[in-house]
Amino acid sequence: MRLSWEPLTLELKTPFKIAHGTFSHRYNVLVRLDEGIGEAPAVVYYGETQEVILDYLARVPDLGDDPFDLDAVLARLPAGSKAARAAVDIALHDLWGKRLGQPLYRLFGLNPRALPLTSFTIAIDEPEVMARRAKESGYPIIKIKLGSGRDEEIVTAIRKATDATLRVDANAGWSREEAARLIPRLAEHGLELVEQPLAAEDVEGFRWLRQRLRQEGVKVPIVADESVRTSRDVARLAGSVDGVVVKLMKTEGIREALRAIHTARAHDMCVMLSCMVETSVAVTAAAHLAPLCDYVDLDGPLLIANDPYVGLRYEGSRMTLPEGPGLGVTPAP
Ligand code: MG
Repeated sequence: MRLSWEPLTLELKTPFKIAHGTFSHRYNVLVRLDEGIGEAPAVVYYGETQEVILDYLARVPDLGDDPFDLDAVLARLPAGSKAARAAVDIALHDLWGKRLGQPLYRLFGLNPRALPLTSFTIAIDEPEVMARRAKESGYPIIKIKLGSGRDEEIVTAIRKATDATLRVDANAGWSREEAARLIPRLAEHGLELVEQPLAAEDVEGFRWLRQRLRQEGVKVPIVADESVRTSRDVARLAGSVDGVVVKLMKTEGIREALRAIHTARAHDMCVMLSCMVETSVAVTAAAHLAPLCDYVDLDGPLLIANDPYVGLRYEGSRMTLPEGPGLGVTPAP
């Protein structure tokens, strides 16, 4: 199987501000394995750059010629760039589906009509600006980025502007005490869930926070994102959080994402499926797993002005999977 790649400069529709910084462009890499396609986003927060990804791809040895022996092919990948490893995994799954002539959801035995609605993310800005964006977006589920120090003001302003279901993501931006003080107050505005209130490594803090919120009768689910990468992390967090956020770039592809989802289920945890700033290639790959998840946050392609592919289609928050074999993505017209 022949591996090739192509760097990609993505223009964002709106500069994107989160607790880690502000971005107007993103630098991803498209990966091809014969007729299969995958994508690696360069997420600086995870120490990935386009150069790191390209250097990694140049080091990948021959992957053999059997796309059906998924684990054996993936076992040949060297350690290194997680995004690049994910991209090869996605391209392999696409190739697998194409050679079998079936979309991935069908190979996984999933119902393509059972997709949860996706949220739309509002990046950190002035509270009035965030409220206006939330209202004008028209989306029934809004994910609010917090951690700027004006979190109460922001949630109050957005709640005043819209009846949408609200999720908040602190991106590890709060201390234990801040989280314990803020979450009950924010929850009064009716939150569906709170994502990553505490630092990634503070598993003990999550346990403490969850207990404390339960004692106060605050029932909003706490889900871990930055704290979780693989199925092992999911198992480690059981009892400390209500759910986990699964992303192909953390699990290094579809194969381990499936394991992480099933591990969460085995521990009675809920699952949110999410993405980085990725085109229709990687986001459609993730969406094939959406029927297994409770919550979906797959708005990556909606943030990009120059998506080179079409795949997953959106009607507001409703997503429709393409029916072609593999991922089912095709070059944009
Ligand atoms: Mg998050």
